[in-house]
Amino acid sequence: MPLNRSNLLVALVLLTMVVGCVFRSDRGSVSRPEPAETPDASASPAAAAPTPLKRPDAGDFIVEQQDLSVARFQRLDNQVKTEKMLEKAADKLNQALILPHNILIRTRSCAEQNAFYDPKDRSVTICFEMMERFLGVFKASGETEERAYERMFDSMRFVFLHEIGHALIDAYDLPVAGNEEDAADRLAAYVNLTELGEDGVKAVYAAADAFNLEAKQTVPSKRKFADEHLLNEQRFYTSLCMIYGSDASKHAKIVDAGYLPKERAVRCRNEYTRTVESWRSLLDPWRKR
Ligand SMILES: [Zn+2]
Repeated sequence: MPLNRSNLLVALVLLTMVVGCVFRSDRGSVSRPEPAETPDASASPAAAAPTPLKRPDAGDFIVEQQDLSVARFQRLDNQVKTEKMLEKAADKLNQALILPHNILIRTRSCAEQNAFYDPKDRSVTICFEMMERFLGVFKASGETEERAYERMFDSMRFVFLHEIGHALIDAYDLPVAGNEEDAADRLAAYVNLTELGEDGVKAVYAAADAFNLEAKQTVPSKRKFADEHLLNEQRFYTSLCMIYGSDASKHAKIVDAGYLPKERAVRCRNEYTRTVESWRSLLDPWRKR
């Protein structure tokens, strides 16, 4: 187990300034344990450990370049492209994960405030309209222009990983014993909190804030209650619970300042651990060693 932990989604550094890594074209070459680890007749049957076989690698995350179609998104488009945000994320993902097929990732104008995974063309799309909306939410909360941009990109890292969660559930045909939207949120929290250091913590905080601010600006409705996503209020508390559960002493202020009720907080360590272990176990056969 310890073998796989570190290399996974150090990976998913979307929207951060991490130095880009060189593409590795090692498809098919990492699909089995090293020969030295596969003893032949000398091993007793009992010693032939049930190491999960690696799956064949038949795909990559591929950035689909899109021309900008709506002028007001120029700054967002520029920033995404000049900082090569998607390319860096794809590089890291491709180093970490085996895929059974290609998965496209893109940013574009969609005429709706959304981000989504589309199983028809196996693509993850982050719409500029959604970035714009989150930008507005952070500005309305009193953040400066620059700070609002920063927090929006932080929260988009969470959103992107949420969509990657849907893409992986589809690609790997993973079992989801519960609400898939919640599972995708938890993948985003897991990767951010275990693999991306302080940038990851900032991403989950930013997403939690965005859920909270959205909740305050949204009128409760039957449609919202019926939606497959959890309510923004629930996503807010669950995000805080994941952060708190990852390190209660470091993040004690979440509870001390009354953001997360104690009744939930006492459960967060277990909740976080179960989330991390579940996702690790599900992704284990698909990790490049
Ligand atoms: Zn979703």
